[in-house]
Amino acid sequence: MEFDLIHKYFHRPSKNPQVLLGNGDDCALIQTNQTLAFSIDTLVYGTHFTDSISPFDLGYRALAVNLSDLAAMGAKPVAFLLALTLPNPDDVWLSEFSRGLFSLADSFSMDLIGGNTTQGPLAITIQIIGTLPQGKALKRSNAKTGDDMYVTGILGLGLVKPTPRILFAQALLDLAHAAIDISDGLTQDLSHILAASKLGAVIDLHKIPGSHFDQGEDYELCFTAPKATATAIETLATTMNVPLSKIGHIIEKPGLWQIENGQYVKLPIKGYQHFRESAI
Ligand code: ADP
Ligand code: MG
Repeated sequence: MEFDLIHKYFHRPSKNPQVLLGNGDDCALIQTNQTLAFSIDTLVYGTHFTDSISPFDLGYRALAVNLSDLAAMGAKPVAFLLALTLPNPDDVWLSEFSRGLFSLADSFSMDLIGGNTTQGPLAITIQIIGTLPQGKALKRSNAKTGDDMYVTGILGLGLVKPTPRILFAQALLDLAHAAIDISDGLTQDLSHILAASKLGAVIDLHKIPGSHFDQGEDYELCFTAPKATATAIETLATTMNVPLSKIGHIIEKPGLWQIENGQYVKLPIKGYQHFRESAI
C-alpha cells in the first residue's frame, strides 16, 4: 500500500545526469565534481499552515521554502528528498499535493530522489540538494564594509506561493558578497549577515519595498555587493524581471542603524521567533 502510494505519486524518471540512482533503493546516488549545498525545512500542520491552504499550494510551498535557501547561497537546484507524515493516505489530497510539488520541481528540472512516508499528524519535511562552482557561495559571513545592501521583490505580501530567486542568485555569485533569504523578517534576517560578518549597516527605511517588512515568510533575498558591481546588478535585475531595491550599505560599526538629522539611531531587530513563549 505504502509502496503503491510512493510509486503512484512520487516516482518519476530522472532529469539530471548527476543523479545515478533516484528513489526505490535504500539510498539515492549522486555523482558530481562540484560543491554540494544541502538544506532542510519542515512545515507542520497548525504551526506553519492550516486547512486554508490547498494541497496543490502546500506542495508548491514546501519546495519553495527550501529553494529559497538554495537561492540564498547562489546554488543550482538538483534534487530533493521528501519526508511525508500523513494522518491518512487520501488520493485526492496526494494527487493535488504532488501536482503542486512537481509544478515547481519541473520548472527547475529537479529530481525527487527519495523520502519517507509515515502515518501521523500532517507534516512535510523536504531536504534539498544543490550544486555550486568550487570555491563560490553567497555566505552570510562575507559582507564587506562599503557594500551596498539590496532586497528583491516586495516584502510583507504574505504570498502563499513565493517565487524563489534561483536564477538571479546564481548570476549574483560573481557580483555579490553575502546573501540571506528573508524568512523571519528583514531586520532579523539582515542581523544574521551583520553578526556573521562582524559588521553593521545603515538602512534607509523609506527605500524598503513594502510596509510590512518585518512580518517574515517573504522568501525574497537580502544581499550585499560592492559598489563596483552596482550597474551590472541593476542590469541583471531588469533583464531577469526581478524587482530590486537598494536599501542601505554596510559599515564598520556593529548594529543596524538609520540616520535621522545626521545622527545614527539604532533600529530594533524585529521578526518571527520560533520559541518565543518557551524556555528554549
Ligand atoms: P526504507 O525501508 O529503506 O527506509 P522506505 O520503505 O521508507 O525505505 O522507502 C522505499 C523507497 O521509497 C526509498 O527509496 C525511499 O527513498 C522512497 N520514498 C519513500 N517515501 C517517499 C516519498 N514520500 N517521496 C519519494 N520517495 C519516497
Ligand atoms: Mg532501506
